[in-house]
Amino acid sequence: MQGLGGVTIQQAGRPEVADRWVPAIANGEAVAAFALSEPEHGTDAGAIELAATGDPEAGYRLSGVKTWISNAPDADVYVVFARTTPDAGAKGVSAFVVPADSPGLSGEPIELLSGHPIGRLTFDGVQVPSSNLLGEPDHGFRVAMRTLDRFRPSVGAFAVGMAQAALDHAREHAERRHAFGRPIREFQAVSHPLAEMATRTEAARLLVYAAAAAYDAGSPGVTKTSAMAKLFATETAQWVVDSAVQIEGAAGLVAGSPLERLYREVRAPRIYEGTSEIQREIIARELYRT
Ligand SMILES: Cc1cc2nc3c(=O)[nH]c(=O)nc-3n(C[C@H](O)[C@H](O)[C@H](O)COP(=O)(O)OP(=O)(O)OC[C@H]3O[C@@H](n4cnc5c(N)ncnc54)[C@H](O)[C@@H]3O)c2cc1C
Repeated sequence: MQGLGGVTIQQAGRPEVADRWVPAIANGEAVAAFALSEPEHGTDAGAIELAATGDPEAGYRLSGVKTWISNAPDADVYVVFARTTPDAGAKGVSAFVVPADSPGLSGEPIELLSGHPIGRLTFDGVQVPSSNLLGEPDHGFRVAMRTLDRFRPSVGAFAVGMAQAALDHAREHAERRHAFGRPIREFQAVSHPLAEMATRTEAARLLVYAAAAAYDAGSPGVTKTSAMAKLFATETAQWVVDSAVQIEGAAGLVAGSPLERLYREVRAPRIYEGTSEIQREIIARELYRT
């Protein structure tokens, strides 16, 4: 199943909604997106303001703005988190499935430093039937957190891939590149960082595997393990990619080179699906959960 949006529909959609979207998303015919962040509320997602007025009998009208939404504005369907109860924080948020062709929904792309498809969405009285609710009204925040528990290890896996690619590149460069009459890998100032890069990458990989296994096993500790895997793997990848650039010298900075691309791409995963700071908050909170 691709993407956060597809998994959320799979996990929480009513059968007719899941049947409409999940097979198409799974086989790549439709693209789903997960719209939680807003211009004024990113980390503090429990404070979102996009309003859903109405009720389970009459259906809902969505009005407001979402931003930094991966796959927007080109997705075919959006999972949208909206406020159904004012002044209730995370306990007043509901989740809806909104087809991209719904009247009143528009969007525009945002360009980032790496080629990530992302954009902003405006909801101008978008009508949504109650059958498109994901879970119960006012229980949408839990729906979002369940999806993130599942997806954070996959962000970690992406980060491990970037770290491994940077390590492989730097390892080969250190063998090939000569200075002072020998391959630079013979200088301890190069070989020890390579050893450290390899060790941290392997540790990140094992943590990602552990988090994925914990999710599959339905472990009660999955929130903590997922956050640990995401935090450690994305921070490791940033450090490994930066270390690889240092080992390659100027060659690592040439526009269009593999390391230059990794250097740009490695930055965002420390921010999306919860920043590193928030992963530490989650882990610390879970340490005291009984
Ligand atoms: C490439 C990319 C893809 C994204 N895709 C999606 C998507 O598909 N769907 C979606 O809904 N969102 C998406 N986002 C948005 C992303 O989830 C937010 O950017 C993220 O949650 C942080 O919110 P913010 O950028 O508003 O930063 P802010 O919330 O303004 O935070 C700014 C800084 O303050 C820190 N901070 C805030 N509160 C605390 C606290 N309590 N304790 C410690 N530190 C704190 C943060 O860690 C951060 O360093 C994406 C972002 C990026 C960059």
